[in-house]
Amino acid sequence: MKNSIVTFPLPANEPVKSYLKGSPERVALDAELERQSSEVLDIPLIIGGKEIRTGNTGTVVCPHDHKHVLATYHKCGEKEIQMAIDAAMEAHEKWANTDWTVRAAIVMKCAELLATKYRPILNAATMLGQSKNIYQAEIDSACETIDFFRYNVHYASKLYSIQPKDGSGNINNTEYRPLEGFVLAVTPFNFSSIACNLNMTPVLLGNTTIWKPSSTAILSNYYLMQMFKEAGVPDGVVNFLPGQGSLIGKVCCASRHLAGIHFTGSTSTFQTLWKSVGENIANYVSYPRLVGETGGKDYIFVHPSANVDAVAHAAFTGAYEYQGQKCSAASRMYVPKSLWPAILEKVKKFASEIKMGDVKDSDNFINAVIDETSFDNIAKYIEFAKAADDAKIVLGGGYDKSIGYFVEPTIIETSNPHFKSMEEEIFGPVLTVYPYDDDKVWEAVKYCDTTSPYGLTGSVFGQDRLEVEKIADALCYTAGNFYVNDRPTGAVVGMQPFGGSRASGTNDKAGGEFNLIRWVLPRVIKETLVSPTDYRYSYMK
Ligand code: NAD
Repeated sequence: MKNSIVTFPLPANEPVKSYLKGSPERVALDAELERQSSEVLDIPLIIGGKEIRTGNTGTVVCPHDHKHVLATYHKCGEKEIQMAIDAAMEAHEKWANTDWTVRAAIVMKCAELLATKYRPILNAATMLGQSKNIYQAEIDSACETIDFFRYNVHYASKLYSIQPKDGSGNINNTEYRPLEGFVLAVTPFNFSSIACNLNMTPVLLGNTTIWKPSSTAILSNYYLMQMFKEAGVPDGVVNFLPGQGSLIGKVCCASRHLAGIHFTGSTSTFQTLWKSVGENIANYVSYPRLVGETGGKDYIFVHPSANVDAVAHAAFTGAYEYQGQKCSAASRMYVPKSLWPAILEKVKKFASEIKMGDVKDSDNFINAVIDETSFDNIAKYIEFAKAADDAKIVLGGGYDKSIGYFVEPTIIETSNPHFKSMEEEIFGPVLTVYPYDDDKVWEAVKYCDTTSPYGLTGSVFGQDRLEVEKIADALCYTAGNFYVNDRPTGAVVGMQPFGGSRASGTNDKAGGEFNLIRWVLPRVIKETLVSPTDYRYSYMK
């Protein structure tokens, strides 16, 4: 008998462990890095709980040591995509009708497993497969993922408790039905937490998913699948489909049962999926929910009253942590000419102190960029700047892919506010800086607002709080996550729900409560206690 009203209180954020040499977490992590480095996994598709091997395989390598193969993985074909749709539809009825507190218990168990047994496993896989250092892996594949699980359970309990009031002689309530169909979760390489969350938020609310993982994050994503199973996520609720994105997108968008797309990745991929939904719009059971967080050209705007040291720290860590491959990474900066030499000197000093290399050497602050395509693309932007008349490289500019895909932290300084790398997303450790005349602050603010199509994150630095406020107002639509005297990156679940608009996405705020409403179809039920039987208005009687 279940008749308790269960609530899940606001959780605390998962503490970031220190990984000091000799600490228990460090010993466990080192052992796991060793284990995963010395085997080659064979990663199957997982459809309806069954492992399927198609024989059409790809390889997973370490980006920082690309000859090191960590796994082979099997790619789906059209047949397997259809099987996954069928499996998701079959699991839907049972999962949708599972008591939500049971679903919540399974999600909370995922959090517990990840905080303990799976912590070193997921961190090691994220380090090796996605080239993150210990700290970057810990804040992503452990802490943020755990926070997503726990906070979403709390938000779900809040959502379900939002109920209409009763009328005279009737009672009303809202049922939060899962979407009618399956959700396609298309996930990026750069955060294991996002890959997990794009599935597990809809799943918590009773949906089933088809998961298209990024080909360059398959190792960590596969371990997440194992953890879901161990936590009790039933077969068919999440169907794991590595393979060619364009094929999976095409087949899923053509299914009349597509109920939603939960996407994070580049703007162009999301637009392709959206167009595909548009082409099929007359065929669906319901209009699919399209939720996407996409590209960015995140900025730091420096007012002449700014603290130089604070700006240098923000520029350096904001632009170069995880090799600039966070969607929120600082990639353009507007800085008054009077402050620029001092800021640059400080950033150069930081850069001279850090090391770049393998993730297993904990002295390395910088590791590799994700793959050869990305490496070549970043190199192209650096070469473009080297050849330009209106730009110069003032820091870094070197790159080498002989062992791993390494790119030096780089600054392009330009006199042109429309310079290519001031406007386009590069997704690597490259910051472009436009020094402006100190008396032309508002001209620079205008450039910041209008020269890039994105609207993800941005920050303003200044000690003159009134001027800072005016700049924040003028830049109102440039960022869904905006920072004052802080770098534009590092959002934490529950504190800074994340997402942007313009070309950066639908701004449905992962890590906040608003996202959940996209994965339910509210049904409002009115029950009349004594049904009327006479059609006449009272004054006619
Ligand atoms: P991507 O667009 O290349 O890939 C994302 C996913 O889409 C992958 O799983 C890929 O295989 C799949 N895909 C590619 N083409 C497809 C198609 N035609 N149909 C269906 N799926 C397809 O992006 P990425 O390189 O993995 O990630 C980097 C991008 O993600 C950057 O642009 C970054 O700004 C963005 N990002 C944004 C946020 C955010 O919150 N706004 C967060 C993380 C990453």
